[in-house]
Amino acid sequence: MTRESLPLVFAAGAVSAAIATVFAYRWKLNSSETECVEMVFLLSAMKLIINLPQWLVSLYNTNKDREFSTDDEMISMAVAIASQNVSEGSGGPFGCAIFERDIQTGKATIFSVGANRVVPLTNSTLHAEMIAIQFAQKKLKNFSMKGAKEGKEYVLCTSCEPCCMCLGGTMWSGVSELICSAAKDDAEKIGFIEGPVFPESYKQLEEMGMKVKREVKRKEGAAVLEKYGQTGVIYNG
Ligand SMILES: [Zn+2]
Repeated sequence: MTRESLPLVFAAGAVSAAIATVFAYRWKLNSSETECVEMVFLLSAMKLIINLPQWLVSLYNTNKDREFSTDDEMISMAVAIASQNVSEGSGGPFGCAIFERDIQTGKATIFSVGANRVVPLTNSTLHAEMIAIQFAQKKLKNFSMKGAKEGKEYVLCTSCEPCCMCLGGTMWSGVSELICSAAKDDAEKIGFIEGPVFPESYKQLEEMGMKVKREVKRKEGAAVLEKYGQTGVIYNG
């Protein structure tokens, strides 16, 4: 061992000790205390973990080879995610699916998914659209979906018209098309606030070259909101 390598050895030893301590605590503590230890560990590493509920990972895996060719088929997937997020108790009544579509054939496959995780992960930015966009860009290893893969374009389907944050997120995401099920009014009817989103906002997206389709299967998306509105937490009302 050289003199120069000594600090490295000490650093590696300290990291191993920290990891061992965390595992030792996890073994001894109950679940809420374990979460605290993990949080301290994550803060010291300055990392943020966003996870999908297990049922959504399974839903994605079950559908990943399926071919989608119509707006109705694609939006139904976003609404199904919203509905299951409510029945599983894993977040708010909003779901999103991003599809990768072949520009030549028009055939699409599911590329990324998101479900609202605001309350379970105590994070106001974790709306379904924001999560689906982040996973899609991570998968593409690119900050924009526009032109990320030759011959492909991306369609964002959301179970409800985006709030002001998600409209902005959609604008920067590089998706070619936005398809929405429930309307802003449907979310606001049960007490959610969608923020400053106006008809001009959609016009701006269209002027940037994005296709926008609203109220596709609106009744189905609105029904999920209505059901959640009877008992669910309205976290920004
Ligand atoms: Zn949103």
